[in-house]
Amino acid sequence: MDNWQTIIEPFRIHSVEPIRMTTVAQREAALNGAGFNLFNLHADDVIIDLLTDSGTGAMSRDQWAAIQHGDESYAGSPSWFRFLNAVQKLWPLKHVIPTHQGRAAEKILFSVIGGPGKIVPNNAHFDTTRANVENTGAEAIDLTPPRNPHELAPFKGDIDVAALERLIMERGVKNIPVVFMTITNNSMGGQPVSLANLRAVREVCTRYGLPLFFDACRFAENAWFIKQREPGYAAKSIPDIVHEMAALADGMTMSAKKDGLANIGGWLAMNDDALAEACRNVLILTEGFPTYGGLAGRDLEAIAQGLEEVVEEDYLRYRIQSTAYLGEALDASGVPVILPIGGHAVYIDAREMLPHIPPLEYPGQALAVALYRAGGIRGCEIGTVMFGVHPDGT
Ligand SMILES: *Cc1c(COP(=O)(O)O)cnc(C)c1O
Repeated sequence: MDNWQTIIEPFRIHSVEPIRMTTVAQREAALNGAGFNLFNLHADDVIIDLLTDSGTGAMSRDQWAAIQHGDESYAGSPSWFRFLNAVQKLWPLKHVIPTHQGRAAEKILFSVIGGPGKIVPNNAHFDTTRANVENTGAEAIDLTPPRNPHELAPFKGDIDVAALERLIMERGVKNIPVVFMTITNNSMGGQPVSLANLRAVREVCTRYGLPLFFDACRFAENAWFIKQREPGYAAKSIPDIVHEMAALADGMTMSAKKDGLANIGGWLAMNDDALAEACRNVLILTEGFPTYGGLAGRDLEAIAQGLEEVVEEDYLRYRIQSTAYLGEALDASGVPVILPIGGHAVYIDAREMLPHIPPLEYPGQALAVALYRAGGIRGCEIGTVMFGVHPDGT
């Protein structure tokens, strides 16, 4: 960990977007109108919107400038080649398939390799990833070991490698189309995955002849944590660490709304020629021609520029420290949070914070609603409301 005490935004703000202030009474009315579902609010009734950072960030001056270079040719646009080069400079995979966002890449991949009887191991599936696996009839299995939420371990996103190997032996190599690693591990609190763990998974995959894919939405944040926390990486550059991660992967899915620093976009990439051909065939049905895949040329430009900026250390230091600043302040005032503070979000343990609210009265949802009512802050419940199933399994 570095010792920077002061967080300085490594940018100046160039345009101002107004926020409308509201009163508690106005927010109560908005909550009633939304059926207490924060996703149903009008965003202009929100003062601080922490629902997600996905695609919601301000783009940089150079991203807006890149948009002016957007070339909207149907096939072979120069904007496509700029995008392709930017992706392959960090992730030198043979085939890059652009999509309109991350879940579209997941939908295409799992519609090709999923299906009934198949199982997909992951350190922890993101919600859209799980849904896309299960939608094909396949089974999504999470293998992050149980952790004390307050334990200050450096890489709580790591997979349980022994459990992965047991699963492969029990369920059979032929039923496992791919092993996935989500970096950072979003569902477990935006926690990073170490290169040591990725290497161990690579070794298991190679031994059993299984392809290894990364859900790499927060790859730059993960690389920053490796630089801070993993022995031997302090002096390495972020792109060099990304290359070390990339060298272990046979493919990836990506949301450019995260570490692409863009408002829309994503991609699917892999080395396997036959798999790429099958995926491109689905892409043409659902997203578009392989050199734009559901994106405008201007979006491809914004992502290409975003990928250059996301690996800058001043940006990453500011990004990770400002998340920790909020989380550590909550921790210091006695609010139970997942520690250490992860990359892109602060995760409050609502069940521990509100022990008087039983699980089926939804403490996470109650807390999210109370935060909005009291402060106009829109957070997001990740718990029984988001993931609960009816007794019949639906
Ligand atoms: C956001 C995200 C996705 C899905 O990407 P979208 O662009 O929202 O479709 C998948 N996996 C992880 C880890 C994510 O953070």
